[in-house]
Amino acid sequence: MFFQNTNRRDFLMTLGILGGAAVSSRLAGGEATQPSSERLAIEGGEPVRKSLLSARPYGPQFYDDREKQELIEVLESRQPFRWWHEKSKVLQFEKAYAAHLGVKYALGVTSGTTALVTAMAALEVGPGDEVILPAWTWYADYDAIVLAGGLPVFAEVDESFNIDPTDIESKITPQTKAIIVCHLQGTPADLEPIMDIAKKYGLRVLEDFAQCVGGKYKGRYVGTLGDIGINSFQLSKTITSGEGGAVVTNDVVLFERSLRFHDVGSLRSPYQEMLKGGIVAPYASCNFRMSEFTGAVLKAQLEKLETICSRLRQNARFVRENIADLPGIKLRKSPDIEGDIGYAVYIDLGNRQNRDRFLRALRAEGIAAVGPVGSVILPTDRRIEAKATVHREWPSFRTKRAGELRYGAECCPKTIDIINRFGGVIIDPNFTEDDLKDIVKAIRKVYLAMRQA
Ligand SMILES: *Cc1c(COP(=O)(O)O)cnc(C)c1O
Repeated sequence: MFFQNTNRRDFLMTLGILGGAAVSSRLAGGEATQPSSERLAIEGGEPVRKSLLSARPYGPQFYDDREKQELIEVLESRQPFRWWHEKSKVLQFEKAYAAHLGVKYALGVTSGTTALVTAMAALEVGPGDEVILPAWTWYADYDAIVLAGGLPVFAEVDESFNIDPTDIESKITPQTKAIIVCHLQGTPADLEPIMDIAKKYGLRVLEDFAQCVGGKYKGRYVGTLGDIGINSFQLSKTITSGEGGAVVTNDVVLFERSLRFHDVGSLRSPYQEMLKGGIVAPYASCNFRMSEFTGAVLKAQLEKLETICSRLRQNARFVRENIADLPGIKLRKSPDIEGDIGYAVYIDLGNRQNRDRFLRALRAEGIAAVGPVGSVILPTDRRIEAKATVHREWPSFRTKRAGELRYGAECCPKTIDIINRFGGVIIDPNFTEDDLKDIVKAIRKVYLAMRQA
């Protein structure tokens, strides 16, 4: 379970010692004077650290001779294009990636965004179709739906920061075709109830695991449980080639549709042979082919994926376990804490004002603290609220239903509340034990001071 001390918390709750409201009102107080030893740095006390401790992008910290060797081989081969030769690094990466995740097919593409656009084409999302997505995620999920001509319909997130399974059913209409489930900031979404809903209504499930590569849900890698999965290898993801992405699926038709879409409608060797000529007719498509240089780096990075994830998990667990006894502490929810990659540790601070004060105080202690990052509350984004597209005749928003559908803050009050009241620390796979102790020390110091205030 997520809370090691659930029973203790429940026990204290029943005694009336703890409770959400009580914690909030105490946190809401000012920044009172502390005993000099524990005086907060923000009030002129001694900071826990002299210089700011901050996580860095994960993948490049693990670049070594393996990436170098793979890249040199591409240079020396003088074959930087994935087709027309036998030793494609992209193909080797695709096979290794699919095997690692335990999925039949993986396709390398140029980015997570183009992987999403490809997945929309594979799922045949088009004008008149509705796709449900979480109100808090990255732009690309929304944009891929609109670029396909479909209508994005937002659902709220819950305290896992992922789509709330209980807010999906009310968003389904006869036009709904798919649900995009995002596994954000390293935490898997609660897929089981979502898959049940999808089955009940005959909907497709697209898993966006861009921020959770290496994460698992009930023992299986996220991205492989829905109809199709996409991820990114951009700098801020678990492993990286700077830019890059992948589409993964167990469905041969979705794979062939993706393959053709990503490469001008064609099916080239060796996929031509592997799919025995294929069964899908070519259709209007793109070029999202991955470069051999990208494939080379990713082939080497994949070998480091489990190391990165296990270090993150270990470091995140250390922080969680050493703040678990703080009175009233409530952490971000995770439907599978063992499968969570440990990207961050987030605490519920009750409301935005307290959260922001908590972040400022932690930064003053030398710990880079942040609110939920890497995504946007999309319905409140100006261009989304305005339903702006590349052309005024764009099909997404021309129906009566689309005209009536309101974006903006009123469509996601719960999401806005949740995203604004959590604050925490991004974990680095190479944080030392001293770093982790400083994080714990700073969180405890600030949290307790704010409670007393
Ligand atoms: C990064 C990201 C994407 C887009 O990936 P790019 O490679 O940057 O295009 C899509 N979805 C989520 C959730 C992401 O975090």
